[in-house]
Amino acid sequence: MVEMLIAGERTAGEAGEAIPVVDPATGQTLAEVPRGTVQDVDRAVNSAHEAFADWQRTDAEDRANLLRKAIALIERDRKALTESLVHEQGKPVTEAAGEIHHLLHGLNYYADLATKVRGTHQALPSALSKAYGMVLRRPMGVVAAIVPNNFPLTLLGTKLGPALMAGNTVVVKPAATTPLTTLKIAELLLEAEIPPGVVNVVTGRGSEVGDALVTHDKVRRVAFTGSTAVGRHIMGLAAPKLKRMTMELGGSDPVIVAPDANIKAAARGIAIGRFWNCGQMCLGGKRLYVFEEVYDELMEQLVRTVGKYEPGLGWEKAEKPAIRVGPLHTSSGRDEILEQLQDALDTGGELLLGGEAPDGDGYFMQPTIVADPATDSRVAREETFGPVLPVWKVSDLDEAIQLSNDSEYGLGASVWTNDIRVINRVANEVEAGMKWVNQFHYGYDELPFGGVKQSGYGKEHGQEGLDYYLEDISVVIGGLE
Ligand code: NAP
Ligand code: MG
Repeated sequence: MVEMLIAGERTAGEAGEAIPVVDPATGQTLAEVPRGTVQDVDRAVNSAHEAFADWQRTDAEDRANLLRKAIALIERDRKALTESLVHEQGKPVTEAAGEIHHLLHGLNYYADLATKVRGTHQALPSALSKAYGMVLRRPMGVVAAIVPNNFPLTLLGTKLGPALMAGNTVVVKPAATTPLTTLKIAELLLEAEIPPGVVNVVTGRGSEVGDALVTHDKVRRVAFTGSTAVGRHIMGLAAPKLKRMTMELGGSDPVIVAPDANIKAAARGIAIGRFWNCGQMCLGGKRLYVFEEVYDELMEQLVRTVGKYEPGLGWEKAEKPAIRVGPLHTSSGRDEILEQLQDALDTGGELLLGGEAPDGDGYFMQPTIVADPATDSRVAREETFGPVLPVWKVSDLDEAIQLSNDSEYGLGASVWTNDIRVINRVANEVEAGMKWVNQFHYGYDELPFGGVKQSGYGKEHGQEGLDYYLEDISVVIGGLE
């Protein structure tokens, strides 16, 4: 069993039970991890709470140097970490390498910011002789970092970097299906001499470990990335204790293609924006709206481009460049996306490409494009977390914006045009927290990222990402006469 990490030590936990971690490309068990319990969460939170006493007093520069040491160790082990991620998540090795790159980039960014946290000072002119005020920026304490299965490392980094550099300590709950590489990273943090207890990892199920973390009295801040359904659930659990929370939730990003778009670039960008990570993206172009003037031309190019995307084993990608999608991450995830596709076909959708889930042990599915399902079908209303792209023809920008906003989600959006009036309207009127023009997916990690509507609230990335791990505390200093 690959044990979890509490207070700097490996442990099998209280339950003594194991959960298998499966390779989605083969259906084979890779390893087992402990089924963490409420007691394990309590130990981990208490260890983080104790470690906080010293960590918050450690010089910011020293904290940054410890993180830089850990970054060097992650770089040293990059190849092994990449392979581990491919096997537990399923993504092609090039995408896994990209994830490690973003992890390192993000950690470096926050190591650099550690010494740049600045409060403010307020001298009251009329009371200058009596008092002055200042705003301190203090860490919060123990952070619960709950991470999903689609980007286990990038989304670990977006929490660990700012949480640690702001002076907080952390208990990580990785997804039950992707704990292995996270545990390796946590070992490297220890090897870098980040003190025991500053980062703990409790493996196990969301309903057990996640719930216990969110309701624990000593957890001050919850950094959650995952589905909107689970986000709603934990927000309810955390409400009685008024925890600070960020909610990075699901999405159903609209993509609009205007008549003047560069169709070749759009077809390529839309393909990547939908089928990267086998379509298991929070930010993914999940609803395509194409002006009728360019519909035929775009669809012809898009079907040709995506038609070349072969599903295959993630670790063979380096030798077989045609492999563009790995398997779905779970068999239940594949069942769900197949049901959503069937609903699209039942409500009038026409299959333009793919649609098949090949027999075999892995959870593979062909990249799929479906034209004109009903606008209240499941692919239009729900998040589709897999390789299915629904597309609709629109007659003008009003219709494109109206359909884009006809969703409970508001995570990302993309528009393909060089017309500044169209760009301006999409930038202002489409309801989404992150937008691209003639792009989908440029990983601009320095910009704050987060959703609107039921895609959540709060920001990760950028300076703002750090702000969410600090409390502003006002202090009035008197007695100066
Ligand atoms: P998920 O099922 O919501 O799980 C996310 C995390 O929450 C996992 O660690 C999960 O643990 C845990 N969890 C599950 N039930 C819980 C509970 N009752 N209490 C506390 N924690 C619980 O999401 P997923 O399937 O891993 O990931 C896909 C979803 O994440 C999609 O909706 C995607 O859009 C979203 N996402 C959003 C962003 C963003 O930045 N907005 C980024 C990436 C992904 P278990 O694994 O044990 O269930
Ligand atoms: Mg899930």
